[in-house]
Amino acid sequence: MKALVYVGPGQKTWDAVPVPTISQPTDAIIRIVKTTICGTDLHILKGDVPAVTSGRILGHEGVGIVEETGNAVSNFKKGDRVLISCITSCGKCEYCKKQMYSHCEDGGWILGHLIDGTQAEYVRIPHADNSLYPIPAGSDEEALVMLSDILPTGFEIGVLYGAVKPGDIVAIVGAGPVGMAALLTAQFYSPAKIIMIDMDDGRLEMAKKFGATEVINSARVDAVQAVLGQTKDGVDVAIEAVGVPPTFDICQNIVRPGGHLANVGVHGTSVDLEIQKLWIQNITITTGLVNTNTTPMLLKTVASGKLQPENLITHRFGFEQFLQAYEVFGNAAKEKALKVIISSD
Ligand code: NAD
Ligand code: ZN
Ligand code: ZN
Repeated sequence: MKALVYVGPGQKTWDAVPVPTISQPTDAIIRIVKTTICGTDLHILKGDVPAVTSGRILGHEGVGIVEETGNAVSNFKKGDRVLISCITSCGKCEYCKKQMYSHCEDGGWILGHLIDGTQAEYVRIPHADNSLYPIPAGSDEEALVMLSDILPTGFEIGVLYGAVKPGDIVAIVGAGPVGMAALLTAQFYSPAKIIMIDMDDGRLEMAKKFGATEVINSARVDAVQAVLGQTKDGVDVAIEAVGVPPTFDICQNIVRPGGHLANVGVHGTSVDLEIQKLWIQNITITTGLVNTNTTPMLLKTVASGKLQPENLITHRFGFEQFLQAYEVFGNAAKEKALKVIISSD
């Protein structure tokens, strides 16, 4: 089969590799129908994630068709169409019982990191019963690819941890796929305003289409002053969806007393906490790795038409154009790319 293989920092190939086989009775082999590229894949390719070693097949998002199942898989059979969770989990351990799937004692593996991923014609999914979701009949499979990672991430770590409520003023810093996922899912709770902050006008334009009531380009104006100037004393919820110290700083300086700062971004370095200010203002700070425990709920929301994450897709490619898809996604600002879909059919 063909797969997108990480060779080393700055190097990848679309190459012939062996088709994966069942190695545990709880495994399933899935034929990938649609997959995508995540910003994390670009970090891996830069060499920022040393745990990923040469020869690894990248990718942690996708939908596909069950090709084969191990003897202990009971929820799926050959031919079923499935959504693949970016995290594999046993469903039985102490953490899985708390739905903290990313901390599973026999998994918590992000596909395309310590085990091979979805940017391939076939992928092996460990603990298939708990790591795959049946696709409701008639669903848009491109929309569902957005549910492998970015939608649960923006929703769980941004919107739910941030405790967005009706009437709230919400600010989201970072209009990438994850920030946009927070923007789409925050609207479940009817906030009064959603302010999107980014440095890229193209992304801010997209954010307006997806429901941002205001946008601020922080490359041109002081975002903190701009937010404080248009709110009484700041926002109820600030969602950090970039992962660098300056955007964390914006967040901690725009939250009103009693508000929430939900950090979603993965920070390569530490950030300075303005602990005096946060203390005196009773601000709740949350952060965490996505658990993908809201995926069944998000699946129903997409199936009902209430959520349309396919709107995040800006480019489509076939499997033989995988390297071109990376080229476009890697030059997202110039190409006006947000999510790219790569399809086998
Ligand atoms: P992305 O790189 O595609 O988007 C980031 C956005 O931030 C871009 O639109 C960029 O223009 C903007 N930006 C960059 N620097 C900025 C600055 N100084 N000020 C304002 N805007 C700035 O990223 P993404 O894929 O949307 O992911 C966002 C973050 O979420 C990343 O840190 C990613 O690692 C993280 N993430 C976290 C989890 C989790 O489990 N918590 C899961 C997936 C991704
Ligand atoms: Zn991802
Ligand atoms: Zn587990």
